[in-house]
Amino acid sequence: MARQSIKFIESLCKGCGYCIEFCPNKVFEKSDKRNVKGTTMPEIVHPEKCTLCELCTMLCPDFALTIGEVEVE
Ligand code: SF4
Ligand code: SF4
Repeated sequence: MARQSIKFIESLCKGCGYCIEFCPNKVFEKSDKRNVKGTTMPEIVHPEKCTLCELCTMLCPDFALTIGEVEVE
């Protein structure tokens, strides 16, 4: 079964933190993880709180966040 979910393309992230700051549901948090560019990335810590409002997809300057289908059991 598939459902809509937030998707994070890690390699595009530049670590600006807008998603952490502006997500109304605190889906993201800072992390120590780095992507292939060496950028410190956010982490999706509360995907269940995402309401698919698309605010982060519009704010992310590098198009690293999208809404798309993910497979769930
Ligand atoms: S779509 Fe909305 S609720 Fe979901 S992670 Fe982005 S800003 Fe947060
Ligand atoms: S808004 Fe985009 S580029 Fe900025 S930290 Fe979040 S995912 Fe990375």
